[in-house]
Amino acid sequence: MTPAPPAAPLIFDGHNDLLLRLWRAAPGTRDRLWLEGDGRGHLDLPRMRAGGFGGGFFAIYVPSPTPRGVDFDALMDNPPYDLALPEPIEAPAAQPVALAMAGILKRMERVSNGAFRLCVTAAEVEDCLARGVVAGIMHMEGAEAIGPDLDALHLFHSMGLRSLGPVWSRPTIFGHGVPFRFPGDPDTGEGLSDLGKALVRACGELRILVDLSHLNAKGFDDVAAVSDAPLIATHSCAHAVSASTRNLTDRQLAMIAERDGMVGLNFATSFLRPDGRRGADIGWEPILRHLDHLIGRLGEDRVGFGSDFDGAMVPEGITDVAGLPALRLALARHGYDQALIAKLCNGNWLRALRATLGK
Ligand code: ZN
Repeated sequence: MTPAPPAAPLIFDGHNDLLLRLWRAAPGTRDRLWLEGDGRGHLDLPRMRAGGFGGGFFAIYVPSPTPRGVDFDALMDNPPYDLALPEPIEAPAAQPVALAMAGILKRMERVSNGAFRLCVTAAEVEDCLARGVVAGIMHMEGAEAIGPDLDALHLFHSMGLRSLGPVWSRPTIFGHGVPFRFPGDPDTGEGLSDLGKALVRACGELRILVDLSHLNAKGFDDVAAVSDAPLIATHSCAHAVSASTRNLTDRQLAMIAERDGMVGLNFATSFLRPDGRRGADIGWEPILRHLDHLIGRLGEDRVGFGSDFDGAMVPEGITDVAGLPALRLALARHGYDQALIAKLCNGNWLRALRATLGK
């Protein structure tokens, strides 16, 4: 009998959209979806346990209405493509949604009976990993819910917010994100506004991690200039392997290495595949190529995972969070030793969290 693929080391993950999926579900069904699952989506507590998911960043994300008559999935199935970004959303419209998602995250902790903990320090995450408790970091993907006076940032910080991207790709008062284009370069125009720079400074004072994923090249440089924290992209891939605007160029990777930051590898097939398509039938080769490239540019201490579970199509070799053991097996078969696998799974994220959130 062949042994089961390894459920350890636990994987700590840079990005998921479970809160969006739960927010879209009927309120009375959310506890069951979280605690038991319904076999759909990528994440629930039983499948996290089965896959050896140690926890990760849970994104608060305010969705835009899909414009009528536009099928983004069909466009992304057939590169080249260049998707129009949705209209900005103002704080009064974004805040109720962001508050609802923060509330869902808090409720997930309460109903989990000790199986899930919302963490605000690296030590808390480390303690969860040691005890087999799933660890959550509250992340905001796009700062629409923070108004121009930044007051709401302090409120969300007190709720547990410890990571923030000034933009999802849609523009905000804080800056411009990178549009979804393939093939394309992330250097797409203006970066952060003065308000965006003030937001990055305020995050530094509060020790909130500033996420570089979804920023364009100029915005990335603006964060690097304004902040002295390690440069971190929670869910991105390598542009040298797949020429999506959402992926990091070698110039950006060199800056991340120099500033001792890290990159969480995104599992979204449209950012992994060298041909830019979306199909899930990609085997392990593209994932391993991105990892080899990221490790080559960043070193073994600055690469981890940022799955985009519940927010993107992922490779059929993984399928959902319960498929993480197959990923560990693929890494070992590729020749990565156990020390490197442990760093990729959680060691590097812990190191980055210590440097950004504090111990
Ligand atoms: Zn994202």
